[in-house]
Amino acid sequence: MQMKSRALAPFAFDLLPLGSVQPRGWIRDQLKLCAEGLGGNLYNFHRFVKDSSWLGGDVEYSPLRESAPYWYNYIVPLAYILDDNELKKQANQFLDRILKNQHADGWIGPEHTKHGRGIWARCLVLMGMVNHAVADPAQYNRIVEAMLSFTKLANSMLKDNFQGLIPHPGDEFDEFCITRAHELSTSLQWLYDQVENRQDKILIWDTMDLAWEASRVGDRDWSKFFTEEQFPKKPAAPGSTLMKHVVNVSEALRYMPQLYRMTHDPELVAHTRQSVDMVFKYHGTTFGAISGDEFLAGLHPRRGAELCGTAELIFSLSYMYRLFGDNSYADRAELATFNGLPAGMTEDWWAHNYLTQSNEVWARNLENWPFYNCGGRALVYGLEVNYPCCLVNHSQALPKFAMNAFVASPDLRFIAHQFLVPAEAKIPVTGRRPIYIISETHYPFDEKLSYEVETDQAFEFYIRVPEWATKGTTINRASGNEETKEETIEVDANNLYKIAIAPGKTAFTITLNAEIRVVPRPNNAVAIYRGALLYAMEIPHKAKVGPPTHFAERKPLPDAEYSPKLCDVEYTPTADWRVAIDPSQMHFHRSEVKGNLPNPVFASGAPPVSINVAGTKISNWELEGDCAGLPPANPAATGKPFGVKLVPFASAKLHISEFPVVDLSKDKVNLQSRRPSHGHCVLM
Ligand SMILES: [Zn+2]
Repeated sequence: MQMKSRALAPFAFDLLPLGSVQPRGWIRDQLKLCAEGLGGNLYNFHRFVKDSSWLGGDVEYSPLRESAPYWYNYIVPLAYILDDNELKKQANQFLDRILKNQHADGWIGPEHTKHGRGIWARCLVLMGMVNHAVADPAQYNRIVEAMLSFTKLANSMLKDNFQGLIPHPGDEFDEFCITRAHELSTSLQWLYDQVENRQDKILIWDTMDLAWEASRVGDRDWSKFFTEEQFPKKPAAPGSTLMKHVVNVSEALRYMPQLYRMTHDPELVAHTRQSVDMVFKYHGTTFGAISGDEFLAGLHPRRGAELCGTAELIFSLSYMYRLFGDNSYADRAELATFNGLPAGMTEDWWAHNYLTQSNEVWARNLENWPFYNCGGRALVYGLEVNYPCCLVNHSQALPKFAMNAFVASPDLRFIAHQFLVPAEAKIPVTGRRPIYIISETHYPFDEKLSYEVETDQAFEFYIRVPEWATKGTTINRASGNEETKEETIEVDANNLYKIAIAPGKTAFTITLNAEIRVVPRPNNAVAIYRGALLYAMEIPHKAKVGPPTHFAERKPLPDAEYSPKLCDVEYTPTADWRVAIDPSQMHFHRSEVKGNLPNPVFASGAPPVSINVAGTKISNWELEGDCAGLPPANPAATGKPFGVKLVPFASAKLHISEFPVVDLSKDKVNLQSRRPSHGHCVLM
């Protein structure tokens, strides 16, 4: 390995201590729904957490024993970002138990035999422990000590023919461990910067080197996968290697960034950007997620994106933006968080799906499904609609995203609003009063961001300006009663707008310039965006509610064990969805919002924004199996044109977001109407 030094490459921006950034407004409402829904309740009622082998039971859905570790990895940031005492109690009980039961040789977890000891689930526990140590200084020492003791053991295991990562005869764990070998360094790099003892530093560094070496020996070198020669440009064929598994790909986007932190090889920076662009070029959905219905699934809008793949993608993109400062990662992270993630949840966060499609005309049990191997129930919303990974991992996405709202340089000379959601930060400063920053905004449902800053010390404040807003974005510097006027702002090469903050109080407002964007999709189709939201036609539908069913047995789960809020929900359309649009005739509409946005903001009809576009029914859009086929390149229009109402994607559980295109320039359609005629025109 190329090794210039044994110092880790720094992040462009560091996270602020967990808990010092608090979400506000609509994103706080969403996080609270997560906490009051499945996310905050699995510990109380679900067997894969409550009765898992980590908590004294014996219920696991896989020999990786990953369910409670997935849960712990998200419950810590969710608890501390909401300052929720009940969730902190859950996290603390888990931590107490696993530290008390740490084996004499350093192993963390319920496994007692060499063959049971796969390292992978430890990576999730270590990520939870890092956040726990940062959020609660009282836990710091014992966590660092436990991590160090585990690292000593991991080092000896990896020196013994990469035991714990590469499966050997008799091992109970499978190749997921080696496919995710780089995940060990996600937390060990943090640990490396905590310890001062030279021997400890050498041990941690060498352990990470052994994990990189294991990935090469085990044929899981992701830097070779993300190349023109090797990267799959088509949907994965049956029997594919786990490197084409969408959750692994989403996690592996951090393979090169984390390796870069150790090698400082600039080639890895460029290569990382290429890897992300390549994934989206060949497997990008309209809604910001990677298409993978278990394995990479290409560009057809009937293929699906797995919910926990989207959660991992958001974490990877946030990490990469913070490390490299390349705005494209942040734009992509916001797109997935505001569109793909909430599309996978019911509005109250008590049910999730396994797959979301760009064009989804049924969310029912399909008989003739197009997925790699997810089966017909993957589109249904519920508790255990498919393999349980998405159940125990979807809640990771939002708290880890929100942690990144404000970030800073270690010396606090630079503080940045990275993800533009409403949030406030109270940043401790040694020997002085904390720095307070509040961002009040309905973004991405509005483009106005009002800031209030109070500080005893000067600093540079950076506001990330998304790529779509780099032209025409303005600032209004309100100052007392003086007349203020808007000025157009300039951003730097990293899309940052910099404003010098002097001691005292400062207030100003940024207005991002959002315009409707028409983005080409395969077969002459288009997707419609404005700002960070994807707009889709909601297909009128009815819901069929049933009891939650067991993920493998497909039988109703016993009532007594489950909250009455739990159910499985299928959606079937009550109107035709075969519509083509003319994007040359569009009108954006925003309803006035007094006070807070509606909660839940992604309920059907709740978002205050919509786009009316001229459209027409068409006769030649066929079904492929039980899904909408590819949008026809030459749609055959029938009937009179009308206004089609498009709404934020996640608020439309059945939806079209990739539209065939027609030329309706001869028919001017009235798009200003508050009630577009789509409702009655497209009824079957
Ligand atoms: Zn999953």
